[in-house]
Amino acid sequence: MHPQGEFELIARIRRQAPTGPNTVLGIGDDCAVLRAPAGADWLATTDMLMEGRHFRLDQCRLSDVGYKALAVNLSDIAAMAGLPAAALVAVALPRDRAFELAQGLFDGMRPLAERFQVALVGGDTNAWDGPLVINVTLLGLTTELGPVRRSGARPDDVILVTGPLGGSALGRHLHPEPRIPEALSLHRAGGLRAMIDLSDGLTSDLDHILEESGGLGAVLDAAAIPVHPDAIELSRRDGRPALEHALNDGEDFELCCAFEPCAAERLLAEPPAGVWLARVGSVTRGPGLLLRDERGGLTPLEPGGFDHLAGEPG
Ligand code: ADP
Ligand code: MG
Repeated sequence: MHPQGEFELIARIRRQAPTGPNTVLGIGDDCAVLRAPAGADWLATTDMLMEGRHFRLDQCRLSDVGYKALAVNLSDIAAMAGLPAAALVAVALPRDRAFELAQGLFDGMRPLAERFQVALVGGDTNAWDGPLVINVTLLGLTTELGPVRRSGARPDDVILVTGPLGGSALGRHLHPEPRIPEALSLHRAGGLRAMIDLSDGLTSDLDHILEESGGLGAVLDAAAIPVHPDAIELSRRDGRPALEHALNDGEDFELCCAFEPCAAERLLAEPPAGVWLARVGSVTRGPGLLLRDERGGLTPLEPGGFDHLAGEPG
């Protein structure tokens, strides 16, 4: 793109960019200036989506890509029980359609940014002969309760998830609902010791919590895993058990939490308003993941399930 084109594109984005209460200075200077309220800490996260690897433009809408690029970052802020604040968006645009692509991405991103009060405070705009790449960096703020890390789980903690799992590849993966309010409600409820968002799949992501919490293990109850209808549909198509999809498919973007046992009982008896919860298992002192069947039999689970997906788009 001609430098003049780049300036025009940035000017156009600047006119449409949402601002927010933490923005001292938004788009237009060499840096944005942001201010955190007293006592809050910044959360910072970034995620890149690449055409051909994470999406194909002949299989999804441009606005879906824009939506998802922000949504996956919001999901990371949710996983720390933070509040989203400001985003920076870097794009590599295929030269021949640069304007159209930039606007399409923005149109998908803006409603989500407005809904979660994310200010668009900067970015970088490039055009080239390669595929479309979009990278969103999202800054968030901790609440007065502080962040929830992966590392706080303890033996006997109860493992909860915020939604049915599996089969997101049928299309759901393009439209994840960031669990920001759910995470804040769960944190306020008390007893939340560790949390992660489910991007790689329940077994893989739970394993991250267990590893970071000092090498713990977990038992998952087969009958308690909430299997998404998409997992059942995918199972019909590929012949693999729906439970396997629910355990190992990625991109559910639900939260997986470890709760202190009494707090978990309270929550399951009376979930916070608008929060869907399922108890999927519990943390054990001994390392390793086990699946308990209906008769009480235990089978070891490999994080990530079978390796046949290794090296494929994730
Ligand atoms: P510099 O050359 O100093 O990095 P740029 O010309 O790249 O500045 O950007 C000018 C301003 O526009 C900066 O505030 C930058 O953050 C913002 N900006 C550039 N591209 C984007 C984009 N895609 N989305 C939002 N803001 C952008
Ligand atoms: Mg630049």
